[in-house]
Amino acid sequence: MKNLIEKAVSTHSLTREELILLLRDSACDSELFAAADDVRRTYVGDGVHLRGLIEFSNFCRNNCCYCGLRRDNRNIFRYRIDEETIFRLVEHAVTHMGLKTIVLQSGEDLYFTQEKLCALIRRIKTLDAALTLSIGEKTAEEYQAYKAAGADRFLLRIETTDKKLYLENDPGMNWENRVECIKNLKKSGLETGTGVLVGLPGQTIDSLADDILFFKSIPADMIGIGPLIPHPDTPLARVPAGSFRLALKVMALTRLLLPAINIPATTAMETLETDGQIKALRAGANVIMPNVTLTEYRRFYEIYPGKSATGYTPDESLSDVKKRIEAIGRFAV
Ligand code: SAH
Ligand code: SF4
Repeated sequence: MKNLIEKAVSTHSLTREELILLLRDSACDSELFAAADDVRRTYVGDGVHLRGLIEFSNFCRNNCCYCGLRRDNRNIFRYRIDEETIFRLVEHAVTHMGLKTIVLQSGEDLYFTQEKLCALIRRIKTLDAALTLSIGEKTAEEYQAYKAAGADRFLLRIETTDKKLYLENDPGMNWENRVECIKNLKKSGLETGTGVLVGLPGQTIDSLADDILFFKSIPADMIGIGPLIPHPDTPLARVPAGSFRLALKVMALTRLLLPAINIPATTAMETLETDGQIKALRAGANVIMPNVTLTEYRRFYEIYPGKSATGYTPDESLSDVKKRIEAIGRFAV
């Protein structure tokens, strides 16, 4: 097992079988996390990128079985922040909080047409900040238009590369189309982020190995790994939560195979485990996305329970976040 970790550190490649062995066996987990930490330091350094997250709409046309924003959830107050307010939130995060990247995330909300989004992107780009979008499946032309308007990055998780599992959990959606969207993002020139959920019912270790190989095949510029956290108003209300350790292992292996990419310590990790994000920063992660949705709506963006109460938030001042990062010998950028 140690030899496999050494091989991954020096060659940044592992076969499917080798990935499965490392994911199955837990004897060398601490060596794996330490190796991912070393590779992270060598390739992307000790800086932790802070990206301010604005959740601007919780309307969604999709019905993903795991997500609290799913169309059929009637037990949720739907909101949409208008363009002017979104711009003010971005401006505040950039000029007062000193954040250099903003992430605009939402459900798949058709109110925000290409025209509206491009106008908003152009306006935001008058500020000195990089812009990431995480707004779901769009056409190749739309992705190209966001890029032309000035967007820098886009996040669209594949969720799982197990097609059968995907179809069970994302009714009405099409796995091939999701892959096509990720490829179109890459072609558009946007930095492309993807990722998976760990803990979908029926998900196998073998399929997690395939997920990691999928990230490499794109190749992805960013990877977000989130343990599944069951939401009471969804069909997955009663399934067990995903394993924090397994999610951390998928993340660490991703760092070994894609050494120079950006990997967030996700809020779902913090929700599931005390100091989950710090543990992730020490096992390969180099990004944190503090929530800067400073509105009364924030609590309604409940993809999973506990989301809005945990993770780095503006309630905990940004200087506290920086202190926690510095306490492990790192620094915020
Ligand atoms: N609508 C966009 C962006 C918002 S959802 C999209 O789907 O791409 C962002 C991510 O939240 C999803 O990709 C999914 O992986 C994650 N998510 C949804 N429900 C979750 C749950 N119950 N536990 C953990 N993560 C979840
Ligand atoms: Fe909508 Fe994204 Fe939630 Fe699916 S995961 S229901 S697309 S917000």
